[in-house]
Amino acid sequence: MQLRNNDTTFERIANTCDSDEIARILRVQSTHFTTYFVITVSLIAIFYKTKHIVCTIRRNYAKLTIIVVGAGPIGLTSALISLHCNRVRKLVVYEEQSRLNIERQSYQIAVQSSQVSMLRSYGVDFDNLEGLWHDGCFYTRVGIYLEFVLHVLPLFKTDVEINFGTKFTKDTRYIVDNMSGRKLVICCDGSTGIASKILGLSDETVTYSTGIFAAAAAIDRRNQTSVPIPEKRVHNLSFDLSAYGTSAYECNERTKFTLKLYGNSQCRHMALAVNRCDTSVVRTLKSVLDKSMMRNIFLKCYNTYKRSKETSISDSYCLNNMKFSPRLYEIKLSQKLETAAYITDCDLFIITEGEAARSYNFNTGLDINMGLKGLASLPQFIQSIVIADTEHSIVKSLVSKIEHSEGLSREFLTFGLKQHLFT
Ligand SMILES: Cc1cc2nc3c(=O)[nH]c(=O)nc-3n(C[C@H](O)[C@H](O)[C@H](O)COP(=O)(O)OP(=O)(O)OC[C@H]3O[C@@H](n4cnc5c(N)ncnc54)[C@H](O)[C@@H]3O)c2cc1C
Repeated sequence: MQLRNNDTTFERIANTCDSDEIARILRVQSTHFTTYFVITVSLIAIFYKTKHIVCTIRRNYAKLTIIVVGAGPIGLTSALISLHCNRVRKLVVYEEQSRLNIERQSYQIAVQSSQVSMLRSYGVDFDNLEGLWHDGCFYTRVGIYLEFVLHVLPLFKTDVEINFGTKFTKDTRYIVDNMSGRKLVICCDGSTGIASKILGLSDETVTYSTGIFAAAAAIDRRNQTSVPIPEKRVHNLSFDLSAYGTSAYECNERTKFTLKLYGNSQCRHMALAVNRCDTSVVRTLKSVLDKSMMRNIFLKCYNTYKRSKETSISDSYCLNNMKFSPRLYEIKLSQKLETAAYITDCDLFIITEGEAARSYNFNTGLDINMGLKGLASLPQFIQSIVIADTEHSIVKSLVSKIEHSEGLSREFLTFGLKQHLFT
């Protein structure tokens, strides 16, 4: 309709004006049209550019509050990694024990070379930590590592609050729920921890067999100073149990035992392991009711394979000072079913790490490395959740964290434990 009117106007003009006039009018109209077009396009472009800049600024400066439950090796390392992400508005740590107790923990940890390089990238100054290097592994007292991290955390510009002697309970959850903005709780409260359950995650676990039978022993020598000692592995061991009325015949390499000697000079640990098999020795050691059989095996192993500078232990010392598993049992890995979640109502992410996520029913002497491996996906997770603003991006972040956690269990079942006990 409008077009017809214009046509009519145009016809009228055409009747009254000469062709130059028509051309001039067309030029003016075309210039106006071009101007309007350019202005409209520019406004749209400015709108999208501004939106993009605002989004970029928001993404670059978006921050969240991180709450770590447990100041064990995995909790404090999570705190350190988080602060390095530059995405933390405030960091709060809850630890039920005192700082003194935490720093006094004396057992020796062996940090594997791959974890050493990861921790170095987060500023862990191994060169100035008391400890010992051997084959690329760093051996130190766990308390020394924890003391170092506790010293470093307050040096960041971020607001850091470390609450010792404060158990994470249902009341603490209420405080967390009411913190403003987006929050992430990292539950690192160990294998018996209940923080994730308090926060609403399932406490169900899936248990996998590792296909390895093992027994462990610990000799505590309180009169000795605690000096780091590198671990030692001995392969292809077989035992003569004929004195106990059992044939000692072993058929092949797979059915022979591996011994791992580890710990510091004060507390020596032994792990004796064998691939799942059904030889007479394994059968006997799995079902034996006579504790002396296993005690004698550990005593003999220690005296034969101890470091040359260490003193031998006597029968009576062993009787009074050695703790040991009385028989072989199967090493199992327990993995928490739910390791990451998001609660919409209070904009709260929850993840579990370290032994709160997965643990063995056996002291392998490598457990901390397992927990540290889990933390490899933490920086990426923090970067993704801090900007996740749609259901899709939130779910994507959670799925990727859960997949990493489950992948680790699969990796440990396939290679991890075997590597650390059998190679
Ligand atoms: C005697 C012994 C010897 C070991 N030797 C070795 C070794 O040689 N090498 C090795 O790699 N590993 C070793 N381990 C295993 C090692 O201790 C664990 O793998 C490691 O400590 C797990 O770290 P984590 O931070 O996940 O948990 P944990 O170290 O268990 O830390 C959990 C922390 O959370 C705190 N906590 C629990 N519940 C709450 C709550 N509700 N509120 C606040 N805080 C809470 C606890 O007090 C604790 O400090 C040994 C363990 C023991 C017991």
